[in-house]
Parts: sequence; C-alpha cells; structure tokens
Amino acid sequence: MTIWTLGSVNADLVFRVPHLPAPGETLAATDFSRGLGGKGANMSVAATRAGSRVEHIGAVGEDGGWMKDRLAGYGVSVTHLAEMRGPSGQAVIELDDEGENRIIILPGTNRRIDIMGFDEILSEAEEGDWALFQNETNGLLDFAQAAKARGLPLAHAAAPFDAEAVAPLLELLDLLVMNQVEAEQLQTATGLAPEALPVRDVVITLGAKGARWIGADGDRSFEAPKVRPVDTTGAGDTFTGYLVAGLEQGLAMAEAIELAQRAAAVMVTRMGTADVIPKRDEL
Ligand code: ADP
Repeated sequence: MTIWTLGSVNADLVFRVPHLPAPGETLAATDFSRGLGGKGANMSVAATRAGSRVEHIGAVGEDGGWMKDRLAGYGVSVTHLAEMRGPSGQAVIELDDEGENRIIILPGTNRRIDIMGFDEILSEAEEGDWALFQNETNGLLDFAQAAKARGLPLAHAAAPFDAEAVAPLLELLDLLVMNQVEAEQLQTATGLAPEALPVRDVVITLGAKGARWIGADGDRSFEAPKVRPVDTTGAGDTFTGYLVAGLEQGLAMAEAIELAQRAAAVMVTRMGTADVIPKRDEL
C-alpha cells in the first residue's frame, strides 16, 4: 500500500556567518552546505524510513535534478515529481555562531504543480492507501477533493500555518497534525478549539512535552522520550511522516503516535533535515 504525498521539495542552502548581516552589509560566509529539505520532502522521506511505500507528488525546476535523485535514493517514488523550467523551491538560511538564524524561502516550482493531474495520479491508488499533504504547495483544495473522491483517508500537516489555506480543508480531513503554535493560530482564525474542529483525529505536537491526541474517544496526552536536542529542524515533519506510515501499516492511533515520538526524539539529536531522518531500526 502507498502514501500519496503532495508536498514541497526545497534546497536548504545553509550559510554559516559570524553574525547576521545588517542591511547594506556584505559579509563572507565561513561555511556552506546544501541539503534536501522542504516539509513535504521531509515527510515523504520519514514515511519511507518508517517502512511505507511513498509516491511524492510535486515539482522541481531545472536546478532540482539532484533533489529528485536524492529523494529516489531514499526510496521515495518520484514518478509524479515533475521537472519544469524556473527555479526550484529553496530556503536560504543564514546561521550565526549563537545559533540565531534568518531564512528566506523561495516557493519556486512548489507553487506551480499541475493541479489538473491529481485525479489521474490518484486513480492509481488502492484501498488502504493514505493521502498526505502540507501547506507549501498550490492545489491544496484540489488535492483534498481528488483524494476524498477516491475514498482515501486524508492527513494534513498545517505547516507552515496559513488560516486561509487550512479553513476550507477542515471538512475534508481525517487527520490534522499541528504544533502548539499552529493550533493556537487556527483557534484564533476560526474561533474553534481543537476539540471542536470537524476533523476525526487532531494531533497537536508539544515539542519536548510530547503530543496530544483529540479523537472520538476523547483527549489523550503522550510524553516525549527524554533526549538532549541539538537541532529541532524537521522534528514535526519526522513525526507526521512516521505517524501516517504507522496508520497506513495498520497501527492504532496511540501506537502510531508512540512510534512517531520515538522517531522525532532521535531526529532532534541530529543536525540537518531530510538527509538525517532516522530509519525504523535505529529507533
Ligand atoms: P515542530 O517541529 O513542527 O515545531 P514540535 O516542536 O512540536 O513540532 O515537535 C514535534 C515532535 O518532535 C514532538 O511531538 C516530539 O515528539 C518531538 N520532539 C520535539 N522536540 C523534542 C525534544 N526536545 N525532546 C524529545 N522530543 C522532541
């Protein structure tokens, strides 16, 4: 069975700098690295590492062949990852010696995905498959409607938060995953507390404090494993990828949340994003 992910693929361009440059200042970086990122790509890699088969739906530009190859190298199917003209999504990350950062994101081809293709792509889906998406691409409502028309359970990570994007999706979702800040933003935007949302299962991640699940049987808290974090980038994406993979593989929600927390706890002990998401046998 398969998880069909609609999501962003970004080049994470990290420039180490002695301090964040002031307006007008020219500054030499002391180091540079280029990694695979984007919340969509991270979730697809996480779900693959959890043992699920994943089809990633998205787009990269003419500069993005290496990202497509790297996703494929991690075992993610890239049959529906289009290559087109123009720049890929990218994040320019300035990181200083105090760990302070400043980030510019260029959506690039992540916002130029062919929405007319969703229905045909999802016609390949089978009973038991899941659909998963997040907030960095175009076509969210079209994808949600195509997935529901095929009867697929639909999971959404409301990240990065955008009230206008999330509100029309709520009625279509089976699972909504948010961090605490996103949950508060959604409550402010809609006036609805998490337990009042029209979604069967809502999972709120609470960083080092763990996670909360609001489902048909009520409200349940899960403690996170105790670890020494060095870099929390990608923790939420690892959590969501593992969670949906667990559900797709037939785990009950509580078991899938515990699996997701074990994976996210290992992830925060590592520097980097998609390239360092732990495999299931490393948990
Ligand atoms: P996001 O990365 O989206 O902001 P969170 O910070 O809530 O999301 O983290 C997602 C999940 O990652 C948490 O529910 C938890 O399981 C795990 N996690 C995050 N930070 C820590 C930490 N310091 N120790 C252990 N687990 C963590």
